[in-house]
Amino acid sequence: MKLTVYGTEYRRAAAGRRAKALALALLMLFVCALGPSCAAERPAERELFLMDTYMKLRAYGGKAEEGLDEACALMSRLDSLLSVTNENSEIFALNAGSGQPTPVSEETFELLSIAARVSAKLGDSFEITLRPVSKVWGFTDGPMRVPSDEELASLLPLVDDDKLTLDPDVGAVTLPAGMQIDLGALAKGYAADKAADLLKESGTEAALLDLGSSTILAFGSKPDGTKWKIAVQDPKNPGVYAGTLGISSGSVSTSGGYERYFEQDGRVYWHILDPLTGRPADSGLLSVTVLSGSAAEGDALSTAIFVMGVDKALELRRDGGGFEFIAIAADRIYATPGAGAVFTPMGEYAEVPLEIVN
Ligand code: ADP
Ligand code: MG
Repeated sequence: MKLTVYGTEYRRAAAGRRAKALALALLMLFVCALGPSCAAERPAERELFLMDTYMKLRAYGGKAEEGLDEACALMSRLDSLLSVTNENSEIFALNAGSGQPTPVSEETFELLSIAARVSAKLGDSFEITLRPVSKVWGFTDGPMRVPSDEELASLLPLVDDDKLTLDPDVGAVTLPAGMQIDLGALAKGYAADKAADLLKESGTEAALLDLGSSTILAFGSKPDGTKWKIAVQDPKNPGVYAGTLGISSGSVSTSGGYERYFEQDGRVYWHILDPLTGRPADSGLLSVTVLSGSAAEGDALSTAIFVMGVDKALELRRDGGGFEFIAIAADRIYATPGAGAVFTPMGEYAEVPLEIVN
């Protein structure tokens, strides 16, 4: 009896073990079958501090880890080439030059060519040769201060992107003596474009490159099929969102007075300057977010639209097009049709008038 009981228990235990083993085998089969796609759904991630910014890179697909390693190395190289304050950078060498042709790397040459082309299109609102003026405000190097009218008047003649000469035959750049360049308005965008190219080449299926929230680039489909959701900052409340943009791919660049500024005698002075006056841009906008195919162009555009304002931005858009934008003013949000269609305002911004402009 005891034996029978034992036998029954033994048989029960054995049956239980068999069931467990079967369940385990089935689970393993299931995991194996899902394995590659499961792995693909877990993104590879990197966080790094470059270009004065915390960056977060996320990539999906079989080659994502290797791709991100290469992208990080490339961005670190671009940082050391393009920094305006690093004494070993190519831009530093160019700015210290005596007006003679200076040979530069392929990447610096390419970015300067993009900057020169975009600057010609953007007119007076965008000048990479603004450095002599932005330097005296101290936004990049400190100390931050309000320069005198005389000081600004003496520096403004040095601001003129048309005087930059690029010689593609020898890969050299000539900047007249005394003139200086700052690529701060579009260097992150260029780095995002180059990193995305590299990731695509190395077989990465999809990625979200966040270069400090003001420059974001997405490509490929998210494994769960949903759109990339990009937050638009509330320019009046740091850390709060004004809304989100749902995009399938492309770049989202934001320029806002809130990014870097100081206050003096009750006035706020921010780091985006009007090249015509040498003073902080005064278009009535608090921030501009541009959606574009190229992050470098989108970055330049968001800075330029912050300076030129909505009306001129719409003229520019009608002339060449190729971009959409959201511009936040104190009492309303302006959005071009394509941007308005993918923008969901949040919190108090759900009550702010959203004006579709074209
Ligand atoms: P962030 O770097 O904070 O993302 P932006 O992309 O708008 O902001 O770029 C601001 C930087 O661009 C400034 O720090 C300065 O170096 C440069 N800059 C400021 N005003 C202009 C301008 N009108 N044209 C070109 N570059 C500018
Ligand atoms: Mg910019």
